[in-house]
Amino acid sequence: MNSTLKIIQVGHPTLRRVARPLDPAEIATPKIQTLIDMMRETMRDAPGVGLAAPQVGESVRLIVIEDSAERQANLTATQLSAREREVVPFHVLINPELEFASSESVAAYEGCLSFASFMMVVPRTRRVRVRAWNEHGERIERDAFGWYARILQHEVDHLDGTLCVDRMEARTLTSTDNYGRYHR
Ligand code: ZN
Repeated sequence: MNSTLKIIQVGHPTLRRVARPLDPAEIATPKIQTLIDMMRETMRDAPGVGLAAPQVGESVRLIVIEDSAERQANLTATQLSAREREVVPFHVLINPELEFASSESVAAYEGCLSFASFMMVVPRTRRVRVRAWNEHGERIERDAFGWYARILQHEVDHLDGTLCVDRMEARTLTSTDNYGRYHR
């Protein structure tokens, strides 16, 4: 059975819609539990470190995140520490609300599975706090800084129809090939 979903690309209207919140009573339904499982597999297969439901054509406020050691294997310890990037275990955030916990902004290259084969510099707030429901219908709260804070802001933006290209420093846009060649 193919357990991955198609990731829609920039220009698809669903990526520009404000996604609807899930009713907490919906979380336990087979439809949502299956969507979570398939989003996890789709993110790992892509591969990516975050995926928002609108990227697989479902306009609901649900994201999955995982930044595993395996995903970080192509970066040196120096690169990881420069990005403030640490392992983040798989987790699900439903109806996430972000609080910007610092006025400090960090600019770094990021990419998007819905804007494939490009990278761009995007300024993001260094520290955020997120409140959400998890896949078990429990309230959770997490503090995030550095790369994890960046992932959170990127994915929550997707729920509001905002893409990283809306926030990028426009002249930094580069193909992934040229990112590897000139900007890494
Ligand atoms: Zn994205």
